[in-house]
Amino acid sequence: MAKETCLCKPTEVLIFPCSGGSNVGQIANEAAKELTTRGFGKMYCLAGIGGHISGIIESTKAAKKIIAIDGCPVSCARKTLEHADCPVTVHVVVTELGIKKSSDFHLNDKDIVKVENAVKEKLKK
Ligand code: SF4
Repeated sequence: MAKETCLCKPTEVLIFPCSGGSNVGQIANEAAKELTTRGFGKMYCLAGIGGHISGIIESTKAAKKIIAIDGCPVSCARKTLEHADCPVTVHVVVTELGIKKSSDFHLNDKDIVKVENAVKEKLKK
């Protein structure tokens, strides 16, 4: 059987967006990509956590900080991580930043920046 590992290399700060099927889920996803590109951490594989992939869960537990970015208060990313005993250190909910949930995928860059900034602020604490 193939070893359950991911080609993504974990770093000290791992970022898990919910990547949900709504504007706010996709804003979370874009913010995670930007934060990774700018060196604030590394976007990692939430689906691997939900799929109980042992290598991904082990790498996540070894991380210094775990960031969950959820689109809405249902908090799928945070709950998925917690179910796998991966405690979330920073949690941001996109709708709590005044961004309304909808099915319009024409994302606004300002909303993505707002989410990035919220994560950066919480990381400082
Ligand atoms: S947190 Fe909200 S937007 Fe994200 S996947 Fe769950 S229900 Fe969808």
